[in-house]
Amino acid sequence: MSPTTSHSQKPLLAPPPEQYWAEHKNDPAHAHHAAAAGSMGEDDPWWNKAVVALMPLVPPVMVWPLAKRYVAGASLADMDAAVARLNAAGCRCMVNILGEYATTQAEARATAEAYKATMAHLAQADHHANITVKLTSLGLLVDQALCRQLATELVEAAATHKRFVRFEMEDSSLTSDIIDLYLAVRASRPADCQQVGIVIQAYLRRSLDDVRRICQAGAGHFRLCKGIYREPRWLAYHQPELVNKNYVRLLEEMLQAGAYVGIATHDEQLVWEAVNLIDRLGLTTEHYEFQMLMGVDEPLRQMLVAAHHPVRVYVPYGQQWHAYSLRRFKENPKIARYVLNNLLGGH
Ligand SMILES: Cc1cc2nc3c(=O)[nH]c(=O)nc-3n(C[C@H](O)[C@H](O)[C@H](O)COP(=O)(O)OP(=O)(O)OC[C@H]3O[C@@H](n4cnc5c(N)ncnc54)[C@H](O)[C@@H]3O)c2cc1C
Repeated sequence: MSPTTSHSQKPLLAPPPEQYWAEHKNDPAHAHHAAAAGSMGEDDPWWNKAVVALMPLVPPVMVWPLAKRYVAGASLADMDAAVARLNAAGCRCMVNILGEYATTQAEARATAEAYKATMAHLAQADHHANITVKLTSLGLLVDQALCRQLATELVEAAATHKRFVRFEMEDSSLTSDIIDLYLAVRASRPADCQQVGIVIQAYLRRSLDDVRRICQAGAGHFRLCKGIYREPRWLAYHQPELVNKNYVRLLEEMLQAGAYVGIATHDEQLVWEAVNLIDRLGLTTEHYEFQMLMGVDEPLRQMLVAAHHPVRVYVPYGQQWHAYSLRRFKENPKIARYVLNNLLGGH
């Protein structure tokens, strides 16, 4: 299925068509996989620490075979190839340039230019892809006025190239700033407000209020995710069941308000909830898409595509892929565990 045709198709609540299974039943990707977290004592803090401590010792050349599943590569050409491959497989894409937060104005400006070049390239290649950016990489921690200016420039460039810019959500110290900046950029560019969106994290206790505030401002182009940062309990739900309940609650709030939602998860329970909610509300594919990280749970991704649900894949690329991977491992031992699990032959 071409990613451009998925808009008009009615999604399926039930499994994909028989013909799909006839064609794919021997596909190893569809073999039942146990959860990526295997039996390596993965919930033991000492194990997580050991894995994280070991990762920097692994030379980049050895990390690459593991990382390439999750990262497109270092260059624009690598990104181009990954996006073309995913588009051909029926998936839309969103491209992120790897890197950490900008520490100078010059770094922030350079990152904005790189995103503009990426958007121009995506448009020229006619890829079904947009961009997703951390505002800290555009200088949010250096100079808020500059960050807003660069973010606005990206939205303008998105309008020129018929693309879309997603402002990602970062740790809780920045939640208000990111939402305020999103609303300010939208208000200053009403004609381009369909060109920009935000992310809401289901683990944050404040998120329902934030969603209502954003929807009241008439702005509703969300990505909904669980949230990746370590947050204290007074700010974030720590119980996984509560995070999931809040996810569904927020999703319903967004969809009922008429917002467009990128449902970003690999948690099949949440996918089930979302598909049923979409069906119950009688929504078409113009109201939502599923979003998944490159290389993560491809069988689930394939099933969603086969059931005519729009799916967008997160494609990170850039020179800093190695440093970025190591920092991600440090911040979130869970990812290091996934990588090591892959190395040891898990999912
Ligand atoms: C498209 C997309 C964009 C995101 N953007 C943001 C953002 O802007 N801000 C933010 O705070 N968080 C973001 N996240 C991360 C998100 O908040 C979660 O931390 C992450 O997706 C894991 O949650 P889950 O819903 O997949 O469920 P989980 O229960 O954590 O994961 C379900 C299963 O998916 C697999 N899995 C999940 N993540 C990975 C991974 N990284 N590598 C390998 N396997 C994995 C595992 O098999 C796991 O058992 C994003 C996630 C996605 C998919």
